[in-house]
Amino acid sequence: MSELERILSEADMVLAGVGEEFDGMELLRTNEEYGRLCRSAAEAGAQWAVPYLHRYFLKDDPRVKKAYHNLGALLEHKNYFVITTCMDDLIEEAGLKPERITAPCGSFDRLQCSAGCEGSIVPGEAAFYAELDEVLEGRKTWQELDRPKCGICGGDMECNTLYAEKYLEEGYAESFERYRKWLQGTLNHRLCVLELGAGMLFANVLRFRLEKIVSLNQKAELIRVHSHLYQLPAELAGRGKGISQNAVDFMAEI
Ligand SMILES: [Zn+2]
Repeated sequence: MSELERILSEADMVLAGVGEEFDGMELLRTNEEYGRLCRSAAEAGAQWAVPYLHRYFLKDDPRVKKAYHNLGALLEHKNYFVITTCMDDLIEEAGLKPERITAPCGSFDRLQCSAGCEGSIVPGEAAFYAELDEVLEGRKTWQELDRPKCGICGGDMECNTLYAEKYLEEGYAESFERYRKWLQGTLNHRLCVLELGAGMLFANVLRFRLEKIVSLNQKAELIRVHSHLYQLPAELAGRGKGISQNAVDFMAEI
């Protein structure tokens, strides 16, 4: 039995943190077409579309699909919660309960006003994403994209993520509150914290935060998987394991 299997089998609750190694920025770094489209989006002032670009390129990636599928299988019969910094919603491949996932960096799936009007968030319509595909496939320009309008000020809408000009955090507030409540219930329970591919970009959401959660619960253990930032801090020595492997590869091969 591997260390991960042992810790998981003994845990009552599992907190999974999904980080940058699962995200387009990491996985698509060397993809020229992705780079070209990111530049064209930036030139057109459409950075808000970047999380959709991630999804566009990664949605058929067999490695990512397998990694998420295996994460779903791992958590299926556990009392779990997932916090992810990815904005591409590919975690839906895991088949997990939506009410057990929070994504504080946002989701391309919701739209918000680019001027940041409070209360402007709406679910994106399929027709809008179909049009985005046309832009990515070169059949339309960014300027020709017909963007939905804000119900409050009439301005252009964009994806409700950190890439938005004025990111509206109200988009994830409800799921984050559920996460906070769930966390409160982990105290004095055997908790496995499974951190997958979290780098320094959102260290206060995953790495440092998850270390703190483990340090406050004597029955918690941390499994940290990352290609190079896999070490556990000295104060958590003997409270888990660091695994030196890209987290997507690790989960795809598990
Ligand atoms: Zn508005």
